[in-house]
Amino acid sequence: MSEQGHNTPYWWDEAGPRAGKTATPPAQAEVVIIGAGLTGLAAALPLARAGRQVVVLDKMRIGEAASSRNGGITSGNLHLSREQLIRRFGLTQADAFESEAVAARANLAEIIRHENLACGHQASGRVVGYLRPFDAEAMRREADRINRRYGIEIGVLDKRQMAEHTVSQKYQAGVLRPDIGSIHPAQLLLGMADRVEQAGAAIITATTVTKVVHQNTQFRVDTNHGIITADHVIVATNGYTDKGLPWLRRRLIPVISEIIVTEDLGTNRVRDLMPRLNMFGEALHLGYYYRPTPDGHRILLGGRRFSNDPLQSKLRLKNALLGIFPDLGDVRITHHWAGPVAFPFDKLPKLVVNKGVIYAAGLCGSGTVWAPWLGKNAAAMILGEEAETVFSSQVMRSLPFYQGTPWFLPLTMQYYRFRDRMVAKSK
Ligand SMILES: Cc1cc2nc3c(=O)[nH]c(=O)nc-3n(C[C@H](O)[C@H](O)[C@H](O)COP(=O)(O)OP(=O)(O)OC[C@H]3O[C@@H](n4cnc5c(N)ncnc54)[C@H](O)[C@@H]3O)c2cc1C
Repeated sequence: MSEQGHNTPYWWDEAGPRAGKTATPPAQAEVVIIGAGLTGLAAALPLARAGRQVVVLDKMRIGEAASSRNGGITSGNLHLSREQLIRRFGLTQADAFESEAVAARANLAEIIRHENLACGHQASGRVVGYLRPFDAEAMRREADRINRRYGIEIGVLDKRQMAEHTVSQKYQAGVLRPDIGSIHPAQLLLGMADRVEQAGAAIITATTVTKVVHQNTQFRVDTNHGIITADHVIVATNGYTDKGLPWLRRRLIPVISEIIVTEDLGTNRVRDLMPRLNMFGEALHLGYYYRPTPDGHRILLGGRRFSNDPLQSKLRLKNALLGIFPDLGDVRITHHWAGPVAFPFDKLPKLVVNKGVIYAAGLCGSGTVWAPWLGKNAAAMILGEEAETVFSSQVMRSLPFYQGTPWFLPLTMQYYRFRDRMVAKSK
C-alpha cells in the first residue's frame, strides 16, 4: 500500500457499510426515525421490541456516517466543566448532568452485553494528559468526591505515574478514568442494525428526507422515494443534518474531526509506547485523542480539522503523533478519514421537541455514549415512559441569521489554538 493509504475508515476493513434490508418506504408508519446512526438505531430497538411499526430512513448506507467513523473511545464527555455547569445551572442540575454521564456510560456497556454485540468492547480506561502540572491536591479532592458518589476510582497521576501508561514525555501529569473504555464502532453499529432489523423495524437506506410537516395529529415525511405518513418522528441526524431539517440545522455547529491510523506496528511496539493499552486524550481545547486499535497492533490518532487539503491535514496529524511518540518517524500511515461532529451553541447534547418532532442531537463529539442514551430516551418519550434525562430540559437555541454554515468557526478554532499554544509554551 502507498504512503497515501486508504481514505476510508480503518474500521471498515472489518465492518464496512451496508444497505438496509427494506428497499422502499411504506406509505405509513407509526414511527419514522431519520438517521440510521447509533442514536436512531438505539431509539428504533426498544420501539420495535414494544411492537411499534418503525421505519428508519437514511440518505447513506448503514454504517457510513459518524457512528462508524469515530475513534471508538467511550468518553461520555461533557464539554462544560463542573464549575461552568454549577455557575450556569446551579449545583442540583450540575449533579444531574454528571450523574447522567455515569449512567449513560453504563447504559452503553449494558446494551453491548445484553444484545451480545461483538464490538471489541474493552474496559481500557482513559488517561487525559496535562501539558502543565496541575493542583494535585484539588484534583485528588475531586477524585475522592466522585469515588464517594459513584464508586469510580479516578487516578490522579504525576509525571512518574504517567510513565506507567505512556512513554510520551509530552505530559507533566494526568487523570485516569477507569469507567471509560473502547469499542470497534463499526462493529457496534452494524450489530445494532442487525438487532433492529431482527426486531422487525425497517431500515431503508439511500432515502433522503427532504421535509417534515406536522399535519393535524400526524406528520408528513417527504423523501426522494415518496411520502410517509407517521404518528411520531425522531430526528437523529447529528453532524450530517442537512437542509431537509432546517430547524435542527440552524441549531447545530458542524465541526470536522479526522483520524489517522498507522501501519501494523506489532503488539510489542504498541505496548512499549502505551504499556496498559489505555485510551488517551489531552487537557487542551483542541487536544488530540489516540488509542491502540482493538487488536493492539496499530495506533489511531484523531483531532479537529484545520485544512481542507487532505495531504496537509494528514501530515498535521502525523506530526501530532510524532509530538507524542517521536520514535514513530519511520511509520507509515495507512488510513486517513474524516467526519462531522455537531455542537449546540451551549455545548450540551439535546433531546428536545419542536412542533411535535423529537430531536436527539448535538452530541459534541462524544456520541458513542450519548447517542445510545439519547436514542433510548427518545424512544421512552414515544412509549409514554418517563424520559430519564436532564438533556430534555434545555432549550436549543440558534443565532440570528444562522442557517447552519458556521462562518465563525475558523476564527473560533484559531482562538482555541492560540490558547492551547500558550499552555504548551508555559510548560
Ligand atoms: C472522526 C470522528 C471521531 C469521533 N470520535 C469519537 C470518539 O472517539 N468517541 C465518541 O464518543 N464519539 C466520537 N465521535 C462522535 C460520534 O461518532 C458521534 O457523536 C455519533 O456517532 C453520532 O451518532 P448519530 O447516530 O447521532 O449520528 P450519525 O452516526 O452521524 O448518523 C446520522 C445519520 O443521519 C443521516 N441523515 C442526515 N440527514 C438525513 C436526511 N435528510 N435524510 C435521511 N438521512 C439523513 C446520515 O446519513 C447519517 O447516517 C467522533 C466522530 C467523528 C466524525
